[in-house]
Amino acid sequence: MSKRDYYEILGVPKNASADEIKRAYKKLAVKYHPDKNPGDKEAEDKFKEAAEAYDALSDDQKKAQYDRFGHEGLRGAGFGGFSSGSFSFEDIFTHFGDIFSDIGGFGSFGARSSARSRGPSPGEDLQIGIAITLREIAEGTVKKVRIKRYKTCPDCSGKGGSGMKSCDACGGKGQVRRRMRSIFGEMVNVTTCPDCNGSGEVITNKCKTCVGQRRVRTEDTIEVKIPAGVASGNYIKLRGEGNASAQHGGATGSLIVHIEEKNDDFFVRDGQNLFCKVLVPVHRLALGGEQRVPTLFGEVKVKISAGLQPGTQLRVRGQGLPGYNSDYKGDLFVEIQAHIPENLSSKEKTLYEELGSLSQERDEKRERSLLERIKEFFG
Ligand SMILES: [Zn+2]
Ligand SMILES: [Zn+2]
Repeated sequence: MSKRDYYEILGVPKNASADEIKRAYKKLAVKYHPDKNPGDKEAEDKFKEAAEAYDALSDDQKKAQYDRFGHEGLRGAGFGGFSSGSFSFEDIFTHFGDIFSDIGGFGSFGARSSARSRGPSPGEDLQIGIAITLREIAEGTVKKVRIKRYKTCPDCSGKGGSGMKSCDACGGKGQVRRRMRSIFGEMVNVTTCPDCNGSGEVITNKCKTCVGQRRVRTEDTIEVKIPAGVASGNYIKLRGEGNASAQHGGATGSLIVHIEEKNDDFFVRDGQNLFCKVLVPVHRLALGGEQRVPTLFGEVKVKISAGLQPGTQLRVRGQGLPGYNSDYKGDLFVEIQAHIPENLSSKEKTLYEELGSLSQERDEKRERSLLERIKEFFG
């Protein structure tokens, strides 16, 4: 299989700056991120392909080599990395951890913690959902949310008290083994010791505020900054806003904010494009004119050409949604619908009757030709 050109993969020109290359890669990484496309082999391949291209083009030496000799230039000694084509997601997260972590706090795009390291275990991550409107998505917003979480006990600074001794329950190992009988026979189940939370030590003189738990339950209001252009399914990871660790010195967990998009009663979203339906008075469709159309950013006037038919879709460029992390804005598609007046005044009625008789011949001709076509069709 021939390999695709790295510039083509990232969608940047050959003379793109390091910044442009980085931005292009970020966009693809967000789009094809495995967390957003679980089980999608194609997305997985695209994600890896983009990582390989970025690996080569973000390294001056590799880039120079690639620019001169193409893919051939990166084969051979001295150029390891992703060009070999065999690497895992973990490699990508480890290698590009920095790029994922400054991606506006998006999702678990930070490097994944691989094998749990020794030492105090971190506090739990918390998850919340925030519903936002299209209008808020259009401009970005800041939401205040109340969350219940554990904070490090202020009275003992997370020490849980004073005086430590080896935990009796686990003999200082931090783990307890329990024998269980099951249909498969006897099994040994090893779990974290509940008495010492796995630390192997217990406090002899417990803090009164947290009863030796090192953390206390609180309720806080925090502000969550939501960038423009987000969509349902996106999530924002706020590091250090989750639960404090139950162990002294453990890291605080993250708060994961899931974005839910509220339905709008006028606009329908498809990616960055918006769709709406607008009722236009019959006379304006016949004669032509201008029609005011609301947008997420105010209103625009669209031109109605004389004789415009209901069902026509007009495109208003740049009145759609902004992209996350990009300046490009989608378009607004306006479906024209005819507004047929009800409860006519007697004068209107007379005028419509007059219009009807004026166009009678034309209308009958159209009816006849339609009937004839249908007759032909059925033989
Ligand atoms: Zn213990
Ligand atoms: Zn305390």
